[in-house]
Amino acid sequence: MRQSQLFPKTRKESPKDAESINHKLLVRAGFIDQLMAGSWTLLPLGFRVVGKINNIIREEMNAVGGQEMLMPLLHPKDLWNETGRWDKAGDIMYKLKDERGKEYALSFTHEEVVMDLLRKNIKSYADLPLSVYHFSTKFRNEPRARSGILRGREFMMKDLYSAHVSESDMMDYYEKVKGAYVKIFKRLGFNFKVVEASGGVFTDKHTHEFQVVDANGEDTVFACNACDFAQNKEIFTGNMGDTCPDCKKGKIAKLEGLVEVGNIFPLGT
Ligand SMILES: [Zn+2]
Repeated sequence: MRQSQLFPKTRKESPKDAESINHKLLVRAGFIDQLMAGSWTLLPLGFRVVGKINNIIREEMNAVGGQEMLMPLLHPKDLWNETGRWDKAGDIMYKLKDERGKEYALSFTHEEVVMDLLRKNIKSYADLPLSVYHFSTKFRNEPRARSGILRGREFMMKDLYSAHVSESDMMDYYEKVKGAYVKIFKRLGFNFKVVEASGGVFTDKHTHEFQVVDANGEDTVFACNACDFAQNKEIFTGNMGDTCPDCKKGKIAKLEGLVEVGNIFPLGT
């Protein structure tokens, strides 16, 4: 197709309310269009880019045995009550009521749904390990949805879930998936760090985030200049310039403006 026929036309001016660079440039170049704060249409060019990224992710998820499927976005309240997260995740989860007063969650994650699926369909330990994933929309009630497509109220995510017979098998797979993400972000050409972080509403254990360096984001990371040691600011207890606690050789530097592009969690039972 000719570029002259592409919808929509490029434009010289940035939108008046645009604060972040990705918002200004991607709107001007015709990749995205804002419906309201944190809510975007992927225009034909933007949709093509996302499709190419999804294919890279899909190949690497399939390579670690992930099976692709698609789960629904509208969830019954009962399922979220079983884990206590109907109340615990109240700040970020959109909740709605139908005309008969029945309550639902709009998905911000799929642990509850995937566990319901597995308990109905796994008959024996011999059915494990198992890993399934999907690409789908997530909804998050972001108080600060002003960073263009970096912080949306509605966005597309790939999430993979695995189940195992033992903690050691889970941790082996955790490392395998960590390696799969490293491959994905290398293929995408990112300068990134694998960063230790807290699990937030997901787990009490430490987790790993994948953070793009030299970006225009909101995250701060403390990282060694000699080895792979990196922790996010929520869990790092030292100071800039400290000797690295890992290799005891390098110095700790503070990196700002990073963008989180992935996160893995050892959720346990
Ligand atoms: Zn180090």
